[in-house]
This record gives sequence, C-alpha cells and structure tokens, in this order.
Amino acid sequence: MPYVLTPPPVPAVAIAGSDDLFPVNRVYCVGRNYAAHAIEMGHDPDRDDPFFFKKAPDNLLPASELDGGGDFPYPPMTSDVHHEIELVAALGSGGKDIALENAMDCVWGYGVGIDMTRRDLQGEAKKAGRPWDTGKAFDHAAPIGRLHPASETGNMESGRVWVDVNDAPRQEGDLNQLIWKIPEMISYLSRLFTLQPGDLIFTGTPSGVGPVVRGDVLNGGVDGISGIKVTVT
Ligand code: MN
Repeated sequence: MPYVLTPPPVPAVAIAGSDDLFPVNRVYCVGRNYAAHAIEMGHDPDRDDPFFFKKAPDNLLPASELDGGGDFPYPPMTSDVHHEIELVAALGSGGKDIALENAMDCVWGYGVGIDMTRRDLQGEAKKAGRPWDTGKAFDHAAPIGRLHPASETGNMESGRVWVDVNDAPRQEGDLNQLIWKIPEMISYLSRLFTLQPGDLIFTGTPSGVGPVVRGDVLNGGVDGISGIKVTVT
C-alpha cells in the first residue's frame, strides 16, 4: 500500500568504530537525577519516585552530523537555552514489567547526549502546570555522540560526566551520583510503557546547568566513551 506522503527518515544514531546506525524508537528523559542538580533547580533531592518526559526522536542531532564538531542552531521563541550533559543508555531490547535483575540485559550501549532546554519556556510551563514539550522537545534539542556497545564498555555505573563551554568547566559529576540507577529507570519505565528496541534514555544531568549563546562551543563527555562537540549557531 503506497503512502500518501514520503515517509520521514528513521531517526538514527552513529556507532563508534562502525558505519552502522542505531535506529531510534522513543527518547525518554529522567528529571532531577543528581542531588546537586535537584538542589540548584530549587528542589529537595530526596528519593521521590523518578519522573520522565520525552523528546521526539527527530529532535536528535546525531553524531553522524557532529563528528569533528557540529552545529546546534539556537532555537526560536526563547532567550534562555540551557545545556544538560547526560549519559544516554540505548536499549537493544525491551518489554513490560521488566524485573530489576533483568533490566541491564536490555542495554545495547551508551552515548553522550545534551538535553538542550528552553529553560524560560519550561519555567513558564512548570508555573502554569502545563506540559514541558515546548521547553524540551524542539528541533535539534538532543545532540548525541556516537554509541558504544555495552559489550565493550561494560555496565556504566561510575565515571566522570562533564561539559566545558568555551574551554571553561561548566558541569561535572560522576555516574555513581545518579539517584535512580539505570536498571531502576528501565524497570520503572517498563511499568509505565512497553519499552522497545531502539529506545533511548537520557539519564539526567549533574549540577552546573546554564545558558548558552550563539558562538559558544560545548565539549562534553563521559569517561570511557566518545565525547560530543557542539557549536551554537
Ligand atoms: Mn535533563
């Protein structure tokens, strides 16, 4: 049966050391998952249930376009765009009601992403009790580096997470500071949604989030995997 329009391309992320691509299904993001970041956003960093929002898969600005440094076009309708550097877990399998002890079997690999945020629009939405989509799920809102298979990295449970802006340190944390660990997030999400191969999970950002302006160069990374370099244009 023909489509009435040309189908949109499958969003995909590049893989380190390979020409193959990782096809993306959904993009889940967790909020406030490092205590120091919860505090800087004005919240108590206790261990409330995790909460999630989504970006659209076509919001990804994938590494295939970022190798050697790519461009993040400053988005419209905002004057306060923030960087949030995050480890991203890429799922190779999914399911419902995944037990904690089986959750890591779902992880295909890991990458570094930036949860770009129109903080002013997110702030207005929070105040009005409205959805966060305009703050979080805009065009190019999810720059992401090359994925590394978990078969090479092992389970990523500790390691430095950072982003420098114009060579000055901005954000820094360690994966061992995650309030909700990756298997806990997978298990929890799988009670709310049927997880699928190709789902990505942005695992939260350490403290130090802040605004970017046109011309800024962001260099981010997580120990042990390919970093990400983005110029705000
Ligand atoms: Mn985030």
